[in-house]
Amino acid sequence: MGRYGDEILERFLRYVKIDTQSEAGTDHFPTTEKQFDLAWQLEKELKEIGASDVYVDPKACVVYAAIPSNLPDGGGLSVAFIAHIDTTPDLSGKDVKPRVVHYEGGDIVLNEELGIVMEEAQFPVMKEYVGDDLVVTDGTTLLGGDDKSSVAIEVVLAKYLLEHPEIKHGPIKLAFTPDEEVGGGARDLDLERLGADVAYTIDGDGLGAYNYETFNAAEAQLLIHGRNVHPGQAKGIMINALELGVEFINMLPMYERCQYTEGREGYFHPYDFKATAESGFLKTLIRDHDEERFEERKRYILKCVEALKEKYGDERIELKWGPGYWSMKKVVDKVPFMIDYLVQAIEENGLEPKCIAARGGTDGSAISQRGLPCPNISAGYENAHSRFEFASVQAMEKSLMVVVRLCGIYGEHPELKK
Ligand SMILES: [Zn+2]
Repeated sequence: MGRYGDEILERFLRYVKIDTQSEAGTDHFPTTEKQFDLAWQLEKELKEIGASDVYVDPKACVVYAAIPSNLPDGGGLSVAFIAHIDTTPDLSGKDVKPRVVHYEGGDIVLNEELGIVMEEAQFPVMKEYVGDDLVVTDGTTLLGGDDKSSVAIEVVLAKYLLEHPEIKHGPIKLAFTPDEEVGGGARDLDLERLGADVAYTIDGDGLGAYNYETFNAAEAQLLIHGRNVHPGQAKGIMINALELGVEFINMLPMYERCQYTEGREGYFHPYDFKATAESGFLKTLIRDHDEERFEERKRYILKCVEALKEKYGDERIELKWGPGYWSMKKVVDKVPFMIDYLVQAIEENGLEPKCIAARGGTDGSAISQRGLPCPNISAGYENAHSRFEFASVQAMEKSLMVVVRLCGIYGEHPELKK
């Protein structure tokens, strides 16, 4: 492990001990005040390092910092890197007790007392990290490598660039955002303050992995109004809202549900249904990487609703569209060098670039939708959102070096912005 690996580890251990769990289903942002605990800590550290324009938005809990261009004319394209500071509500992020294990292969006992073991057979990805120093949990909480590995990488990136003036780069912008895990979509990230021409989130697992394609996403919400009467006198009169919802679910193609799909296959996912004979509310997710197929899926939902209206009456069903997002692909495709440079940086660090179509959304989807193209770079953790989460110090250091090189490559292309 190099000196900067030590730097990352030291900061990473500090960050994961700060509980920054976000909360689903609230309508205020940030969803939890405790995310500020890390935000203020970052402000302090970034100032110590000598980063410029360090600022914590006291309302939105977004942290900003910058490393000025060191190109002769102070120019160059401005590149942002974005990490999220929150951890998922899926599992506790309180009292995280990180431990560093030098991994020689096989199973890792996380907690002897409770008998919690991370088994190689269950997590074959462990094999890719033999010989590395892995940060693991005690099996009772998540680790928070998602996305604090990236938080540490970005802070050390600032330090690295300031300590290596021989690396010529344009303006580098850093942002740390709350509430990614609860679909925040970096909504309060002020793009004007950020002042970036292009951006990358650093998040996600897999050595050498990157994503510039996410799902296109929509949610169909059906409000169902039954015609409820006494069951003894129901013949020919009752319309049972619960059964109507089930009928709709049965119209969705069975093998296009999430549990039967993978890779670039899209799906319908009815996931929340509250109903009585009187009324019901049914939510169905629609996901597809391909834009045309995505639109087709939405049309299919419309057709199902039309058919049910014809059968039971227009007034029985109301269709509304809930929250959604698009794939970042169509925005990123317009700036092809973003991916070319990233692939070059990954390759030059001896890693094999792996382009993965994300089966989900990232904050980058929403940021791209706002006009700032924002693909994603992997961060060095695995098994996110679970007690088996771990982060490799060597992988985080490699991820740092990929990003350092990426800054250098942009610096070699001042023609992009005069
Ligand atoms: Zn994440």
